[in-house]
Amino acid sequence: MKRILDKIKKYETIIIHGHKRPDGDCYGAQFGLKDLIKQSFPNKHVYVVGQTSSYVDYVGQVDIVEDHQYQGALSIVVDTAIQDRISDSRYINGKEIIKIDHHIPVEDYGDLMWVDTNFPSCAQMIAYFYYKFKDELKLSKAGAIALYTGIVTDTGRFRYRGVSKLTHQLAGMLLEKGVDVEYIDSHLSKESLSMIALKGYVYTNYATTGGFIYAKMTRAVIEKYNVTDEQAASTVNALGGIEGYPVWALFIEYPNEIRIRLRSSGPTINELANKYGGGGHAKASGARLESWDQLDDFIRDVNEVINQWNQIS
Ligand code: AMP
Repeated sequence: MKRILDKIKKYETIIIHGHKRPDGDCYGAQFGLKDLIKQSFPNKHVYVVGQTSSYVDYVGQVDIVEDHQYQGALSIVVDTAIQDRISDSRYINGKEIIKIDHHIPVEDYGDLMWVDTNFPSCAQMIAYFYYKFKDELKLSKAGAIALYTGIVTDTGRFRYRGVSKLTHQLAGMLLEKGVDVEYIDSHLSKESLSMIALKGYVYTNYATTGGFIYAKMTRAVIEKYNVTDEQAASTVNALGGIEGYPVWALFIEYPNEIRIRLRSSGPTINELANKYGGGGHAKASGARLESWDQLDDFIRDVNEVINQWNQIS
């Protein structure tokens, strides 16, 4: 962390990347870090780049960065375990690259890495970074809103096992910066009628096999319910916590691949996700199928993981 701070101090231009299809934690860590650097070193040029997320756009707006701005710049990539998932491949053009992540490492990249899977969110890592060096760093209310958003979204509102005393202490520190929890919740809990209808679809069109419950989100369904891909993907949570089904997933059809959002309340699933071109956490991972033809193989593999877990638990 000290070496990261030294690098931040050294560079005039810092460009912060996250992962493709950014979520609340990715945005939270990116914009929280940007705020932290800008507030502490106002003369530096700090940018957030990558894809946008309408779900959490209240946290900040992505910057437009020209290719030449990478010359002599520091690239910091947050919340991303695999290089292929980094949004905006120009990160590689930075003079040096720093990786800050809380996922189970799949690939080492960067000149400097701070990877710690004990953190339930990458935003908590940034909040901790601020806390550690708070004598020399500053954070505004906007930065605190970003970090708090990352913490609450990646912990399922403080419900997942990785949540610790430190999580609450750091969340408390952010509240002291003026974060309004109702303001954040009003953004995160907003629900449209089309989303209610889509959830109804998931609740009536799921399939089960062994201990696995899943739903298929085809292009036709996404179009019929008139929702964004991001909204469609969020319905994975509808299938969680159902008795007898420790693993659940949503398969979302994109033009060139089928993305899997995989979740578990028991077996470790990130190794299965690795096998299908993905990764993530022990209980929340993402992966992909090349086509629906691979679905049967995936189901067979998932049930093997569940059966092995049943035998030892
Ligand atoms: P998601 O289903 O997109 O919320 O992803 C769950 C977790 O797995 C997140 O921490 C993601 O960063 C990670 N993840 C999702 N997709 C991939 C992928 N293709 N490769 C590696 N990690 C992934």
